[in-house]
Amino acid sequence: MSTLHPVRVRFAPSPTGRTHLGSGRTALYNYLIARQTGGQFILRSEDTDQKRYVPGAEEELMNSLRWLGLNWDEGPDVGGPHGPYRQSQRKEIYQEHARRLVETGHAYYCFCTPERLERVRQEQIKAKINAHYDGTCRRIDADEAARRVAAGERHVIRFKMPHEGSITVHDYLRGDITVENRALDDYVLVKSDGLALYHLAAMVDDHLMEISHVIRGVEWLPTFPLHAHIIRAFGWELPTFVHLSIFLKPSGKGKMSKREAAQAMKDGYSIFIGDLQDLGYLPEAVVNWVALMGWSFDDRTEFFTLADLIEKFSLDRLNPSPAAINFSKLDHFNGLHIRRLTPDELAVRIKPFLERAGYQVDLELLTRIAPIIQERLVTLDDAVDMAGFFFRDTFGCQPADLVGQNMTPAESARALQRVYELIAGLDDVKLETVEPRMRLLADEMGLSAGQLFGIIRVAVTGQKVSPPLFQSAEIIGKPLILERLKAAIETLEKME
Ligand code: GLU
Repeated sequence: MSTLHPVRVRFAPSPTGRTHLGSGRTALYNYLIARQTGGQFILRSEDTDQKRYVPGAEEELMNSLRWLGLNWDEGPDVGGPHGPYRQSQRKEIYQEHARRLVETGHAYYCFCTPERLERVRQEQIKAKINAHYDGTCRRIDADEAARRVAAGERHVIRFKMPHEGSITVHDYLRGDITVENRALDDYVLVKSDGLALYHLAAMVDDHLMEISHVIRGVEWLPTFPLHAHIIRAFGWELPTFVHLSIFLKPSGKGKMSKREAAQAMKDGYSIFIGDLQDLGYLPEAVVNWVALMGWSFDDRTEFFTLADLIEKFSLDRLNPSPAAINFSKLDHFNGLHIRRLTPDELAVRIKPFLERAGYQVDLELLTRIAPIIQERLVTLDDAVDMAGFFFRDTFGCQPADLVGQNMTPAESARALQRVYELIAGLDDVKLETVEPRMRLLADEMGLSAGQLFGIIRVAVTGQKVSPPLFQSAEIIGKPLILERLKAAIETLEKME
């Protein structure tokens, strides 16, 4: 356990697109540490960037979190003592805080036009110096600035970065980081439309929401010193900051691009949580897989349930180095978690996939099928090909598939006739009863078990590949088996 006190942590996504694995991981780590310490996990929607806002993204996000089992204690939908939890509804709070920074001399109004800023930028590029605000409005007298604001002049609010000295910030994983203040800019805190930028909004919210640990993506590390300056300017305590590693594409070289994301989808994978659900991955497997992308327990243990993770997770074992996405590992974990389900649970999970494929599913029947396919499933969706035939009334198998290997249609028909007679004479079609007899029958007819079972499989299941034949047959039941054998014999007899 890395923290004894109950933590207050937040997951603060911007609803600007689909929910990525990286967001899933950030949410997971926050959730784990909250549950482990008996603290609170807060969901905050950082939806102030109207240009990048994607309708429906927040809903997808919540669905993905719920699907993963990461329930939040406070959030836009459930409310809580520190709401509202959508930044678009907190505009005045940020403005008031920005004004406070202006009053205390930590921020100032800037009236520069975008055209002027662009000119300055171009000149700086030409002079080969890092682009930054040149400080023109920093020098305007406070009363005059206030008058211009009151007169309605268009302005932004900038942070007044000290020109001297340095700042040391502490990242939980990387230790102390010191930067010269000179290297930092007078960042914009509030835009001319009155909306606060992340740098101000998130710091204000984290304080007002009493966040103790900020666990967020490493893309915020470069502006972390600015964030520390802002927090100190308000006179607040800094929460503990943890910047998580980035995700790399499967090759480990570079970040996942749009093209690679599309390729992953073609290969039956995805970097989006919602897609993984549709593809037939279990939330347990996704959680297990994602948890280990940047964290390890002991370099050996691989299998974790959410409950295990709550017990064993620790910030101290987070790895700051980049984590490569490995989809075969996801398949591996999916298999492990599928095999842990009871037949009842597995059937319930598979049912929607069969229904999506157009089958009418009887859950009781599916529960009997579940154990015989459980070992073979990589994804839940594999059940459609493996077990769909159980729910088909008729199936149009290729007549040619009914012909045994190195056999003629007539020989195949005769073999099936013997099978028919054998089964008709049995009291039951239990695996133990049928299988030894079928092997004997194959011997008697001078066929290999593979030859005979191959024909039976196509006749009874309609496909060349199926779950174990006699276990499937037991589920299909004697009357239907006889009916299908008969139809197969007739088909074979009609063949040349
Ligand atoms: N809205 C930010 C993002 O989606 C959140 C960063 C944070 O956790 O503070 O990247």
